[in-house]
Amino acid sequence: MLKEHFSVNSLGHLVIGNLDAVELAERFGTPLYVVDEQRIRERYRRYLRAFSSRWPEVRIHYALKANSNMAVVKILQSEGAGADVSSEIELRIALNVGILGEKIVFNGNYKTHRELELAILNDVLINVDSFQELETIDKIARRLGKRARIGFRINPDIRADTHPYIAVGLRESKFGFDVPSGQALAAYERAKEMPSVEVLGIHANVGSQILDASPFVEEAEKIMGIVSEVKEKFDIDIKFVDFGGGIGIPYKPGDKELPPEEVAEKMVNVVKRVVHEEGLEKPMLLLEPGRFIVGDSCVLLARVGYIKERPGMPDWVAVDAGMNALMRPALYGAYHHIELANKMNQRNELLVNVAGPLCESGDFLGKDRRLPKVEQGDLAVVFDVGAYGLAMACQHTAQPRPAMVLVNGEKAEIVRRRETYDDLTRLDRIPGWLK
Ligand SMILES: *Cc1c(COP(=O)(O)O)cnc(C)c1O
Repeated sequence: MLKEHFSVNSLGHLVIGNLDAVELAERFGTPLYVVDEQRIRERYRRYLRAFSSRWPEVRIHYALKANSNMAVVKILQSEGAGADVSSEIELRIALNVGILGEKIVFNGNYKTHRELELAILNDVLINVDSFQELETIDKIARRLGKRARIGFRINPDIRADTHPYIAVGLRESKFGFDVPSGQALAAYERAKEMPSVEVLGIHANVGSQILDASPFVEEAEKIMGIVSEVKEKFDIDIKFVDFGGGIGIPYKPGDKELPPEEVAEKMVNVVKRVVHEEGLEKPMLLLEPGRFIVGDSCVLLARVGYIKERPGMPDWVAVDAGMNALMRPALYGAYHHIELANKMNQRNELLVNVAGPLCESGDFLGKDRRLPKVEQGDLAVVFDVGAYGLAMACQHTAQPRPAMVLVNGEKAEIVRRRETYDDLTRLDRIPGWLK
């Protein structure tokens, strides 16, 4: 059941890269995120090849919100990836690791003036989300003496089978220009008259953790329909067709993967057909994968502290990582597979719930799981935490966020150090009258 980039050594320990997970935990402490550099590279190359082998011009914009650690973003920069950012700091991280502004897209429904300024100055492609944002961008660009490079985010009105919080393509969702009412077309018409914006793109995003190709095909049909209408009505050639991200990964044993090759084949067929039928210029395809690239590259190691036996019910196993370290189980009811990294060859015979150290009932990593006979000091490993793991970690109960280690073959180095008392209290002040 282990994914292909992991193995088990003669001691029965989990191996990541070429390193023993038990030794990594001893060397760097727990809770510990461990990322496999080679796995990120493999996933990036596979995703890129899926599309670039089917269409002449393709660019992958890694979605930083999945994992914005600088070392992770640097790995993708070294592969030639662009970036999808949605905040000032993500934008600055992308620029700082050496991704050119022209290879960055900026998404989101609330971009501040400061963010827009930074984006315009760096020639970032801004996916505009509302009429008011369009006016704001035109004004800022004029003041800066620049032409802002923009696309429009379209609301694709697509129902994808995923958690409601990450199904962002529904008509009622807050994102994008509405299509049926004519607002999407009106946005292109308005932008065409603006001297300080250059209309280059179209964008949609159907959601996240999608394991079925059909929403992506529907998306391609809708977007390409608008691309033709915009050409026909306003003579605008859309150069960048940005399909967003969203391809999911298997989390649970038995989940089936959605191969990016299948998605690419079906989406590119739609693009080819429409470009041919309507006699359009061939656009560049932009893709914004996050989870697919980094999701399964990373595990969370956590030390077993206490085991509470409960007659007739699953035992409680308390580990040193909770919802603060990994929020997805508490927030989305997400499943993350758990094993004991020091007992990989033993039979999973015990029924347990795995909990963290925080004082609330939402603080669990997994319920009704099977593990080998658990003892104090065992090392739990939580799989597939590379996306929306450390990126969403918080400091609930003043728990320091975990450290992260990057592994490459035999090498391992800290890429984010563990937080300390000083880190957690640095921003607090006691007012004068209480001193
Ligand atoms: C979150 C997000 C992505 C990445 O989604 P994944 O499911 O991680 O691939 C891409 N584009 C936009 C606009 C997003 O909000």
